Amino acid sequence: MSESLSHPSLSGNRGLLQAEGLIFETGSPTRTGVDLPAPKGHKDRLGGLGRRAPLDLPGLSEPETMRHYVRLSQRNYAIDLGLFPLGSCTMKHNPRLNERVARFEGFADLHPLQPIATVQGALELMDELAHWLMELTGMPAVALSPKAGAHGEFCGMLAIKAALAARGEAHSRTRVLVPSSAHGTNPATAIAAGFIVEEVPGSADGRVDLEAFRAKLGPDVAALMLTNPNTCGLFERDVKTIADLVHGAGGFFYCDGANYNAIVGLVRPGDLGVDAMHINLHKTFSTPHGGGGPGAGPTVLSAALAPFAPVPHIVQRSEGRVLVEHQEGTSAYGRLCAFHGQMGMFTRALAYMLSHGADGLRQVAEDAVLNANYLLARLKPHFNAPFAGPAGTHWPCMHEALFDDSTLRAAGVETIDLAKALLDEGYHPFTTYFPLVVHGAMLIEPTETEPKRELDRFCEVMIALGERANADPAALKAAPLLAPVRRLDETRAARTPVLRWRKPADA
Ligand SMILES: *Cc1c(COP(=O)(O)O)cnc(C)c1O
Repeated sequence: MSESLSHPSLSGNRGLLQAEGLIFETGSPTRTGVDLPAPKGHKDRLGGLGRRAPLDLPGLSEPETMRHYVRLSQRNYAIDLGLFPLGSCTMKHNPRLNERVARFEGFADLHPLQPIATVQGALELMDELAHWLMELTGMPAVALSPKAGAHGEFCGMLAIKAALAARGEAHSRTRVLVPSSAHGTNPATAIAAGFIVEEVPGSADGRVDLEAFRAKLGPDVAALMLTNPNTCGLFERDVKTIADLVHGAGGFFYCDGANYNAIVGLVRPGDLGVDAMHINLHKTFSTPHGGGGPGAGPTVLSAALAPFAPVPHIVQRSEGRVLVEHQEGTSAYGRLCAFHGQMGMFTRALAYMLSHGADGLRQVAEDAVLNANYLLARLKPHFNAPFAGPAGTHWPCMHEALFDDSTLRAAGVETIDLAKALLDEGYHPFTTYFPLVVHGAMLIEPTETEPKRELDRFCEVMIALGERANADPAALKAAPLLAPVRRLDETRAARTPVLRWRKPADA
């Protein structure tokens, strides 16, 4: 097992991992990285309004500043450092080509208020990206401006609301049905858009319970929000029936497209009856995320919702491409955000699409599903896979493999302990306790960019930790030993977060 050092660290450092406080604790308001002489003959022109006490900014010398940020950067776990098995997040390798293209001056140095004639190339890029997104999803319209998946959900739900209002049903259709396995953003979005959320239970095989769903339909249902493939890593095999049922009841079908990586190039959501779906460019179309950069959640819309897309729209006129920025003459519900969306993300996503081509994108989905099934097959003899069939059988998953901690619980070990033990092994943990429908869930998404060797290394560590959990449960309960901090009071951190540094009273 990993041993703690026999003597506590004298410096607070752990090996080459440097202890580092907050910059406010390290710096001093009187220190500075620059050393300029006081200006001569300087006259105070502030009329007596000059600051009397220092601003309390944390001053550091130049080497201290460098070290502060480098030490912090070494605390980051990154996809460039190792496997990032976080389920539902699609943490895949981001080709450097995309970064290179996003940094071209002509894209990176644009200002959103520049005259339209000077940004024709950028508009063409956005148009081309919109074309690809509509082509891939089989949907006739797309709103590019949403800045994250959850923002895209909001975009789609507001379009649904506007469509209902146009039918005179804004006040009668108030309920949004959300399956119990949904990502937390789905019910949150529905509530933020002013709807009432009602949960649809799951079936024993990890999908929507069709009968329960049917029973909840009625003239007050505005929409269904369904993730497909769902958060159990399974394709909703009744998805077309589900779409027909919700349409038959006069509601709309919102699909959470965060898991699109499993089906891109293979299935067109438009063919499944979807009315609105956001696409996480930062997941499926490979751009750094999770602290590594901004996101983008373009939302594709069906013919029924297309007239209600938010502004701006790009339209081709004789003088070139223009942005329709105002609501007049459209049924748009307004705009979602200032300006036009995340240009850098658009550039990266289109570079990714063009470099893969249609066949390459299909292979992304095929390989993502293959990798997840390899992991499922290797780990299933050692961990309980709740929806993968009885032992000895193999019921395939989509892009992520779902396990639970039931094989560990007899030893008193649970999901959190295994996740913490992975930290000592140099891995970012899998997604823990999500989806909520599985007790002690461990959701693992390897993505298509992991080579087999990396998958094997990870599986061997998981299997060994599973065995250690039963042989020496205390070892897992004590983990992590090698992380900068040990077990934190995560509940207290979430309930009463301390978000602001305050100067100690005696300082
Ligand atoms: C990531 C994710 C979202 C939200 O996307 P953000 O870009 O983080 O807002 C929604 N649903 C599912 C299933 C997701 O995995």
